[in-house]
Amino acid sequence: MQIDGRTKICGLIGCPVEHTLSPLIHNTLSELLGLNLAYVPFPVREEGLEAAVKGAYALGITGLNVTVPHKEKVLPYLAETDGLAEKIGAVNTLVKSGGGYKGYNTDMPGLCRAMASDGIHLKKEQVLILGAGGVARAVAVMLADKAENIWILNRTVDRAAMIAEEVNVYAGRQVAKALPLTAYDALPAKRFLAVQATNVGMYPATDNAVIEEKDFYSRIHTGYDLIYNPAKTKFMRLVEEAGGVAFNGLKMLLYQGIIAYELWNRISVPDTKAEEVYKRLKENI
Ligand code: NAP
Repeated sequence: MQIDGRTKICGLIGCPVEHTLSPLIHNTLSELLGLNLAYVPFPVREEGLEAAVKGAYALGITGLNVTVPHKEKVLPYLAETDGLAEKIGAVNTLVKSGGGYKGYNTDMPGLCRAMASDGIHLKKEQVLILGAGGVARAVAVMLADKAENIWILNRTVDRAAMIAEEVNVYAGRQVAKALPLTAYDALPAKRFLAVQATNVGMYPATDNAVIEEKDFYSRIHTGYDLIYNPAKTKFMRLVEEAGGVAFNGLKMLLYQGIIAYELWNRISVPDTKAEEVYKRLKENI
């Protein structure tokens, strides 16, 4: 691309950022849409976070993505936070506004858009969430007013219980319940959509699944692993071997990026361009 005096800059702050696929998403979008915008990763440590946000604003940087470990810690340095991001308590996208940056969470709308494009409907669904970390919590919040029931299964059951309690207060109904991973036998005799939101099975430890027992997988009609490297995780293989349908997290990554790009440029990215970016992402995994 041609960098000139009008080039808009966007970027990613986090630590580490060396292996991120976000520049591929955003710079491909700029190329496909003919927009004069360049996207650069910036390694930022915790002690430099406030200065980085203020410095980015002073430099006129249009927007930033925020990744691990700053998604919650960046909140005090923002001028404003969008309602959904406030509910989730974490942002992954900053958009330059009047007196600073406004924070958004595009991870969850990204997951919703990814699921919709895969033909998955959340309304009145019976959902299992495996894990109770930052992303699992966000998934539970997002599902609170959609799913019929949410079961959060985690190695550390207290963390799952805290999320379930929070979601029930927010939803105003007893929608979420917590269980230890080992107690999946206590689930009702239904078939579930399972969202795999732990780190287990991620490259390089690809021969692991958070639950290994095959009988667990006969309860799952659709498995959605938020991991995208490897492209087919052991969790996905176990779901498929038990007769279910399985997806990885690459489309979530794609759409969280596309929604951020749309916010920065106040545009709507056509599906054909999203598909082209997705193709390039798959080639790069
Ligand atoms: P996190 O806050 O660190 O939470 C990690 C979760 O994994 C916790 O529930 C933890 O259980 C569980 N866990 C870790 N090791 C385990 C083990 N050996 N056995 C059982 N459970 C284990 O992580 P996060 O930020 O929520 O991210 C979770 C996943 O989402 C990651 O795989 C990440 O790659 C993926 N992700 C994908 C996208 C995307 O765009 N596709 C975006 C963000 C994140 P305990 O509570 O017991 O420790």
